Amino acid sequence: MAITGRSIIGYDRGSTGGNTFTAFNPRTAEAVEPEFHSATEAELGRAISLADEARIPYGNLPGKTRAAFLRKIADNIEALGDTLIERASLETALPDQRFIGERARTCGQLRMFADLLDEGSWVDARVDHAIPDRQPIPKPDVRSMLRPLGPVAVFCASNFPLAYSVAGGDTASALAAGCPVIVIAHTAHPSTAELVGSALMEAARSTGMPDGVFSLLFAKGYEIGQTLVKHPALKAVGFTGSRRGGRALMDIAAARTEPIPVYTEMSSVNPTFFLPGAIEERGEGLVTGLHASVTGGAGQFCTKPGLVFLPESQASLAFISNFKFEISNTPSPPLLTDGIRKSYDDASEKRATEVMDHFEKEEDELAGFSVNPSVFETTSIEFLNTPDLNEEIFGPTTLLIKSRSKEDLLAIARSLEGQLTASVHGTEKDLIEYADLIRILETKVGRLIFNGFSTGVEVCPSMVHGGPYPATSDSRSTAVGSRAITRFARLVCFQNFPDAALPDELKEANPLALWRMVDGDFKKD
Ligand code: NAP
Repeated sequence: MAITGRSIIGYDRGSTGGNTFTAFNPRTAEAVEPEFHSATEAELGRAISLADEARIPYGNLPGKTRAAFLRKIADNIEALGDTLIERASLETALPDQRFIGERARTCGQLRMFADLLDEGSWVDARVDHAIPDRQPIPKPDVRSMLRPLGPVAVFCASNFPLAYSVAGGDTASALAAGCPVIVIAHTAHPSTAELVGSALMEAARSTGMPDGVFSLLFAKGYEIGQTLVKHPALKAVGFTGSRRGGRALMDIAAARTEPIPVYTEMSSVNPTFFLPGAIEERGEGLVTGLHASVTGGAGQFCTKPGLVFLPESQASLAFISNFKFEISNTPSPPLLTDGIRKSYDDASEKRATEVMDHFEKEEDELAGFSVNPSVFETTSIEFLNTPDLNEEIFGPTTLLIKSRSKEDLLAIARSLEGQLTASVHGTEKDLIEYADLIRILETKVGRLIFNGFSTGVEVCPSMVHGGPYPATSDSRSTAVGSRAITRFARLVCFQNFPDAALPDELKEANPLALWRMVDGDFKKD
């Protein structure tokens, strides 16, 4: 499939008129061909008006028809074969094997939503029959279900070029809910975006979706993305990236005449607690696990453990020394972009002045956007006195905090910002002794992990990848798992409608055989 460097506007291609940019090979810092052309204002306007026109026809298609579209997208992505894997690796310096896994996850997510649509009960249909002779006033016939929100903007993630980009989780869940999607490609991996975007567009065409159900815009600078979020026809936003970027989009959406929901996933330091029993019993295994979790994907996972708490003990000293040894033997990886490299170096330099100890792997020559892995060390007192130590550093580093008492740990847990995850490593005895720590952490995170590490997010119906601000903009939702669909739907109630005029999901005979709540009871018939 040819890479043209042009946006996809419904079933058309953008012009070559806008300003241009290229991706860079993070291994060498050299530009990667071809040049990409930013969408013009007129092209953005066309993408939005097409999405607005597609809103009602697409949103009213039967779930099974949308399911066939999602499955076709997955098939088309797989058909891109090695070209996709090679491009993604060239633009990000992440290994081919990583993308083979990420492609499987991306296609798996699309098929998971297709299965959800085929089954159909996700719409949460409720039926309350009329009671005309109820005293003192008659009860009306009331029925409700989830319906699509309308056109959604999706901003691609730098660190998940497949699973959280053009056809990733936000797009899959919005399309599944019945919303047209306009994607803003990430400037770090535009060729990967165009390959996936073309596969998605062809899937839409071959399954008979309305023109405008999908557009992909390339944009240098923030103007196109911000104009899109301000547009009155846009009804929701999905974003994965920095706190600054996510917050800017939240503020723009809130300032609109009609504010709209914005689902941003921003920053998380994923506190990890090694309780006394765990560090005594299995310190060596924990070193290996933590090292893999901190350095995997060059430390560029939103679930990377960025704060690690240990008791003040001999076992912890041995742990810290072994962990530094592992870091000293870790290759210096290229980060995704020069901006991310610079943020890593600047934030590391600042942190070195704020902590007790800083250990960095030394590499004489750093090629491209490479950085040295490192580890910082401090005490619970210093941590409590230095709020900046809570900030995320994106890349292969972490902060180890030696805690002098359980009271310090509880005070730290209470002081934490919202997080995607927290992990607790302990024995059964630790769990009893630290039960109050778990209760506090539960109020801070979307996912609590026992005796495991936070990286590696299972895609399954019960997964929660969310958490209180600033981990995300809305702690009531998840970006991973089938519940993500509800972010792009809203409840609509039909009162006293004749059966023939109701959506099939709410008809008296339940023709789609959904699980529904009927007069207060869940039933399928
Ligand atoms: P980013 O700078 O927030 O960019 C994400 C996307 O949003 C890009 O397409 C970017 O455009 C666009 N964007 C950013 N700010 C914007 C604004 N004010 N208005 C409109 N559009 C805006 O994130 P990044 O480039 O992926 O990485 C930078 C930092 O984000 C990392 O160092 C890390 O700290 C954090 N990050 C966190 C996560 C997470 O899951 N928690 C994931 C990735 C990154 P351009 O392409 O033109 O820059």
